[in-house]
Amino acid sequence: MAIKSKGLLIDITRCIGCDACSENCKAVNDLPPQVAPELDSDNWTVVYRREQEQYVRNLCRHCADPACVSACPVAALTKEESGAVLYDKDVCLGCRYCMTACAFRILTFEWFSYNPRIRKCVLCDARIKEGKSTGCAEACPTEATVFGDLDTLVKVAKARIADQPKKYHDYIYGLDEAGGTSVLYLTSVPFEKLGFDMTVPKYPLPQLTWQVLKQVPTIVGVGAAFLGGSYFLFKRRAAVAAAEEAAKSGKGDKGGGHA
Ligand code: SF4
Ligand code: SF4
Repeated sequence: MAIKSKGLLIDITRCIGCDACSENCKAVNDLPPQVAPELDSDNWTVVYRREQEQYVRNLCRHCADPACVSACPVAALTKEESGAVLYDKDVCLGCRYCMTACAFRILTFEWFSYNPRIRKCVLCDARIKEGKSTGCAEACPTEATVFGDLDTLVKVAKARIADQPKKYHDYIYGLDEAGGTSVLYLTSVPFEKLGFDMTVPKYPLPQLTWQVLKQVPTIVGVGAAFLGGSYFLFKRRAAVAAAEEAAKSGKGDKGGGHA
């Protein structure tokens, strides 16, 4: 049965910075229990402490048209029906193009491993397929993080802003960033005040790579034609020069030689 695309709505006005989301993420994903202040290979979601007791969760945004997926030369990253962007360690080359491509600078790498993997939130895809919520949303005591169908979460976010215009800043971060993501944010202050990157383009980033990639066949074609033509020309010239040389030495033989 088809799964509707899922997502998370993170309402910063409700977050108390308790870290229960980070701790339960570690529990459901068998990660070492120690919570860190920054994303790394064992911390797939973290809570930043901002001014005026505001707390901001950071995790993979599971973009609608992920730049990391488009940048990966071997399709080790895939966008799933559930909305999750998943990683296959058995396919990965370790090139880290995905890390460079991500507009939110989320993906982390096991720098100290002999067989390093890319590491990030997986939107609890396996739990979703079992009909469960994500570990982080399940643990959140204030419903600052809620899980659900993405289109429903968009409606909920818009309704909260419309119902309480004095409480909420009139913007849903993640709705349009990078062409749309599965992790939406609400807040009471402008997002840039909480460290959100407001320069993330509002179109799918693969469009950028595609603009370049789609030129490749033309460039290769023209290049091959040019190199082929040059090779042919040089070969021809050399043959002509050799023939002329042979003709000249043939003429020389006839004039002074063995007659
Ligand atoms: S969705 Fe799952 S993997 Fe992602 S932060 Fe939440 S608990 Fe962790
Ligand atoms: S569990 Fe909920 S309230 Fe606690 S830090 Fe995470 S999002 Fe905030």
